Amino acid sequence: ILEIQHLGKKFGDNLVLLDIDFKTYPRDVICIIGASGSGKSTLLRCINMLETPSSGLVLHRGKHIPATGAHTADYRSKVGMVFQQFNLFSNLTVLDNCMLGLRKILKLPKNEARARSIKYLMKVGMAPYINAKPHQLSGGQQQRVAIARALSMEPEVLLFDEPTSALDPEMVGEVLDVMRALAKEGLTMIIVTHEMAFARDVSTRTVFMDQGIIVEDERPEVLFTRPREERTKEFLTRFM
Ligand code: ATP
Ligand code: MG
Repeated sequence: ILEIQHLGKKFGDNLVLLDIDFKTYPRDVICIIGASGSGKSTLLRCINMLETPSSGLVLHRGKHIPATGAHTADYRSKVGMVFQQFNLFSNLTVLDNCMLGLRKILKLPKNEARARSIKYLMKVGMAPYINAKPHQLSGGQQQRVAIARALSMEPEVLLFDEPTSALDPEMVGEVLDVMRALAKEGLTMIIVTHEMAFARDVSTRTVFMDQGIIVEDERPEVLFTRPREERTKEFLTRFM
């Protein structure tokens, strides 16, 4: 679905991504792991063009996605993103948060946007809360709403940037369970995470990043048990 070719990104003199290459195929669940500052978030942000790559290409179904223009907006509606901090609008209800993109971006009529939002809120177990405001919900519930909002756009690929890192420990499980269910249904996902057990159990491929490069891109049963690279080994012994 997506192909990243020789992607590079620098902020001033700071080279954050160097020559990243990878592809996603339908039903891939790719977990990206790596130390803080290794460029994981920047890679996700370049993939959906929240950041403009300094070099290299992002291809969607074989077509080059430029950093701006009509194509880019269309592309973004096909590549959703879930953030660490949920990014819900605090003045809107759960339902209105979900409906917003459907109305403004996909231009769906109100009744269709509403029905679709409720469908995905049900899927994440948040249908009973459609009239609540975000501050009335727990962090785990807010993140499930954010996932429903992203799903309701019916993206081809959903990107997650540390979706459980801002949550209290007792709420991590409910969000991972939702993501596990989505993986089972065959949603294509790219997930930056520090949840190693989740990455090992759920990913079809695990990517280890260090200092702006992909050190290793492997099936989890290989990466977690017999990594090829010394740097991967070191990281895993520190984390597990
Ligand atoms: P973490 O696990 O802490 O989230 P990360 O792997 O997601 O780390 P990035 O957020 O991608 O790492 O950051 C990689 C590097 O890029 C860091 O050195 C960071 O300071 C730098 N960086 C990220 N965004 C910007 C920006 N907007 N302007 C300047 N430098 C940035
Ligand atoms: Mg990050």
